[in-house]
Amino acid sequence: MAFKFQGVDFIEFDSLLSENELLVRNSTRSFIEDKLVPIIEQCNRDGRFPRELVRPMGDQGYFGATLDGYGCAGINNVEYGLLTQELERGDSGIRSFVSVQSALVMYPIYTFGSEEQKNLWLPKMATGEKLGCFGLTEPDFGSNPGGMRTRARKDGDDYVLNGEKMWITSGSIADVAVIWAKVEEPGVSAENWRVRGFLVETDRPGFSAHDVKGKWSLRASVTSGLSMQEVRVPAANVLPGSDGLKSPLMCLSQARYGISWGAIGAAMACYDMALQYAKERKQFRDQPIASHQLVQEKLAWIITEITKAQLLALQVGRLKDEGKAAFQHISMAKKNNVWMALECARMARDILGAAGISDEYPIMRHMMNLESVKTYEGTHDIHTLIIGQSVTGISAF
Ligand SMILES: Cc1cc2nc3c(=O)[nH]c(=O)nc-3n(C[C@H](O)[C@H](O)[C@H](O)COP(=O)(O)OP(=O)(O)OC[C@H]3O[C@@H](n4cnc5c(N)ncnc54)[C@H](O)[C@@H]3O)c2cc1C
Repeated sequence: MAFKFQGVDFIEFDSLLSENELLVRNSTRSFIEDKLVPIIEQCNRDGRFPRELVRPMGDQGYFGATLDGYGCAGINNVEYGLLTQELERGDSGIRSFVSVQSALVMYPIYTFGSEEQKNLWLPKMATGEKLGCFGLTEPDFGSNPGGMRTRARKDGDDYVLNGEKMWITSGSIADVAVIWAKVEEPGVSAENWRVRGFLVETDRPGFSAHDVKGKWSLRASVTSGLSMQEVRVPAANVLPGSDGLKSPLMCLSQARYGISWGAIGAAMACYDMALQYAKERKQFRDQPIASHQLVQEKLAWIITEITKAQLLALQVGRLKDEGKAAFQHISMAKKNNVWMALECARMARDILGAAGISDEYPIMRHMMNLESVKTYEGTHDIHTLIIGQSVTGISAF
């Protein structure tokens, strides 16, 4: 059966959006429909990132889209959310790529970088000519990045980096890595060394990347381990405004916000598919399965959860545009909306019966992708603890 995405709007959500917001949403929807949907299942099968879409996405202004100047689009946070929603409606791997390029590489350069660094990297990253990755997680430090072992040692006018990073999106295709490392301070105990951000060109001697193979999730995205052995960078490659762990956490807040919208896109794709399938598939007395109450209960649950998630994301987006979004607001939106999308994907898969496990339909791919999305950028549990800390004033980490 050939299906085309119909859009999902139960309570006239679109009436809450401005003309420009709708324009961004609709143009991204068309781009994804024309360019990604026809190739994504094969990319997923092959474990291939569709690199041929990078420059066209740059032409559309998708990279660093909320930043002003340096060739960036300067859109608002709700427009950006709708952009990530539509990207992830296509595939979480493509949205991950754009999130990393935008929120985890261009944003820290824009926020913590020198004018030289901004001029050098941002215009080329906006077009997709240069790609970036973000190295925070290590083999032994995921939810607790403060324990990181990656070190930077001052040596004359240079810094020398040593360490391992793991699970790094776009690691082996990046031209530059934003590496978070503890700066050695003689006479100060290692646990008190400050975390700072370094721009590390990936062709520097001692830097290498190897791809993670055998992933069942985000197969159309590149995930790598990074190794740095005596990698020498000039002091001009330090992000001068970066200071402590709060700097990478600020980047993660940006990315988590985009994810909270992206997950809605994945849920919409699953819902739309399941609804259309349920109306056509006939079982018992030649009736569509959509006529059975138990199937309707599932569809009603899904559309209700999508609608609640849209309202949550929109409110956080509006707060963000007013400069009032706190990290715990973003944690709630990321945690709830990714959980919601994963539950919707599981229910939608169930509605398709056996067909749901086939990649003739997008649902199982979204479900597998969302398992990663639930874990990265702060796991579901960690966001629970952030919300818990916010309401009680007590940290349970
Ligand atoms: C596909 C993919 C792409 C990624 N891309 C990047 C990237 O580009 N850059 C980057 O730096 N990282 C990236 N990551 C890493 C990601 O951010 C980490 O996987 C994540 O932070 C969780 O760390 P971990 O996997 O080591 O799990 P762990 O921290 O080992 O957690 C394992 C389990 O223990 C739970 N847990 C841990 N601590 C607590 C606690 N205090 N209380 C209760 N439960 C707890 C967690 O919730 C989880 O369920 C990526 C991961 C994936 C899967």
